[in-house]
Amino acid sequence: MANVRFSGVTKAYGNTSVVSDLDLELPDGSFTVLVGPSGCGKSTSLRMLAGLETVTSGTITIGERDVTHLQPRDRDIAMVFQNYALYPHLTVAENIAFPLRATRTPRREALSRAGEVAESLGLDKLLSRKPKDLSGGQQQRVAIGRAIIREPSVFLFDEPLSNLDAKLRVETRTELLQIQRRLGITSVYVTHDQEEAMTLSDRMVVMRDGHIAQQGPPQEVYTQPADTFVATFVGSPKMNLLDGQFRGRDFLLANGFALTTDQAGAAGQLTLGVRPDDLQLAVTDSDTAAAARVTLIENLGPRAIVTIDARGTEITAVVEGPALAGIAEGTPVALSVRPGATHLFDAATGQRSV
Ligand code: ADP
Repeated sequence: MANVRFSGVTKAYGNTSVVSDLDLELPDGSFTVLVGPSGCGKSTSLRMLAGLETVTSGTITIGERDVTHLQPRDRDIAMVFQNYALYPHLTVAENIAFPLRATRTPRREALSRAGEVAESLGLDKLLSRKPKDLSGGQQQRVAIGRAIIREPSVFLFDEPLSNLDAKLRVETRTELLQIQRRLGITSVYVTHDQEEAMTLSDRMVVMRDGHIAQQGPPQEVYTQPADTFVATFVGSPKMNLLDGQFRGRDFLLANGFALTTDQAGAAGQLTLGVRPDDLQLAVTDSDTAAAARVTLIENLGPRAIVTIDARGTEITAVVEGPALAGIAEGTPVALSVRPGATHLFDAATGQRSV
């Protein structure tokens, strides 16, 4: 086990930096998820840590060791990829034992260790199966087993669940978290899926255009997004962003629509952010300035996603079942923000202001 540090790490292709001046400290035993839209530099960062990509400038350390220029095999890391590429002609036990065999551990000893690892992953009844006779989730666990058996000081995961179907992805995600908690190995995980990042990480690093947009515990990133990019990237359905200004406690959009908040807000043009589940709907008279109209209700069982047309501005709300009473498509509604749930951003820069 070890902590990992990126200090001023840059990766450039020609004149283009795809990762710029990355400073990141991952404590021993932590589970860090790098998340962001496609092309933001997450895989490149992970691959530089793995030694699969050179570093243009800066240093990477694992524990006390500067590994910046070490070969991948000398870094004491293990990596699980999206395409976990098990050897089809080998059994589960042989696949898991493979890294030990590659370092010339005697066959019996390697298979015995593989048996222990398989047991910890719930694969002990499948030891003699070939990969083609396993489900996708089981194959993924074998790939994890193959990574664990070397007892690396750092575990790297590059979108390891993206080939699995939705249900299996959630199940395997839970298993992965349990394994990581049990082993306590410092882990770095790359995904473009914000939900996966929220559920897995104890440290979430949101990246954008080769930079860190925000890092911290996932709940902090969710409740205190640093800017409008992070605000809309994290959370589903995504946060509503509305441009306007306060008039007393009402937030007035340019189109004349008024949204009620519990804040007597700052003067001037602002961007107000409100998560769909922080909006409250009240049936109202269609003639008031606050009236908007429900255009679509998507039922999710205990709650519904409600799309609202506020004088031409589309607003999304998530409404719990009981609060839906009396609301149908076409109903005029007034909107208010749950107390304490407004996010305010600078209208020009998008930076959080409250
Ligand atoms: P992510 O994992 O966030 O989707 P990557 O780290 O894979 O993003 O890529 C970051 C950026 O680097 C992308 O814009 C990609 O096109 C660019 N890139 C990756 N490899 C190369 C390369 N060999 N030459 C030039 N640009 C590259």
